[in-house]
Amino acid sequence: MASLGIPGNTIEILQKYHFNFQKKFGQNFLIDTSVLERIISAADISEEDCVLEIGPGIGTMTQYLAESAREVIAVEIDKNLIPILGETLAAYNNVTVINDDILKVDIEALVEKHNGGRPIKVVANLPYYITTPIIMGLFESKVPLESITIMVQKEVADRMQVGPGTKDYGALSLAVQYYAHPEIVANVPPNCFMPRPNVGSAVIRLTRHKEKPVDVKDAEFMFALIRASFNQRRKTLVNGLLHGGLGLTKEEILDALIQMGEKETVRGETFTLEKFALLSNILKK
Ligand code: SAM
Repeated sequence: MASLGIPGNTIEILQKYHFNFQKKFGQNFLIDTSVLERIISAADISEEDCVLEIGPGIGTMTQYLAESAREVIAVEIDKNLIPILGETLAAYNNVTVINDDILKVDIEALVEKHNGGRPIKVVANLPYYITTPIIMGLFESKVPLESITIMVQKEVADRMQVGPGTKDYGALSLAVQYYAHPEIVANVPPNCFMPRPNVGSAVIRLTRHKEKPVDVKDAEFMFALIRASFNQRRKTLVNGLLHGGLGLTKEEILDALIQMGEKETVRGETFTLEKFALLSNILKK
């Protein structure tokens, strides 16, 4: 079948099925073949790979994935897209479409069944309303995972990639960088989608660390510290932690900062992942 990355082909199939876009599902379909090629090359898909695609839509990217991968599992929430996918993916016998909500699917069981528990690659043009829960859910679960190559809102991609001292730096940056190495591979303007989103987009590749970059006794506790520090952006780290519901006393926090050679007035947004790990290990004692 001719590429759905060509706008005329997408319009034709949408009209044939009288498809109505559902805003609540974040439906913005890609209509740009060069962006599709860029995503596939950044994802580095080979004939051995099993790929999980989140939200295949009408199958535009799925077709590219099916051409390059051994096997593709595509999870789509909108039941109205399932008959369309039946037609657009008819030529491929290596694609399994599952009509479900990705946040409810047992991905670990899918990976076991389709890839014998070996690491998969995730590729998606994500529905922007659930970007963070999808990514964090994947990282925090036991799903064996090599990389995640995704289209997200530009601003979110920036937040994932930056370090301390910039306005975008925050809990998401630290969470992503604890699990993976982020790399923005393309900026994508609204006119590459149908319908056009109100925001700019970017493709980011998150390559999972083989070994965590820092040694943390209790990662959950470290992330609670991180969230508390960024909840109160303009406050000092001490005040953020004191009001973060963590049950820490001012003395404990000050004592930890002194051990680290930090000033009482230090702000969380200047702390690297290494510093949060150290602080967490000291306070956990
Ligand atoms: N991959 C297609 C493309 O690039 O043209 C569609 C991308 S569109 C931004 C997001 C897709 O995710 C839509 O098809 C939408 O229906 C689907 N989706 C939204 N929420 C979902 C969920 N919770 N689980 C699975 N799919 C979802």
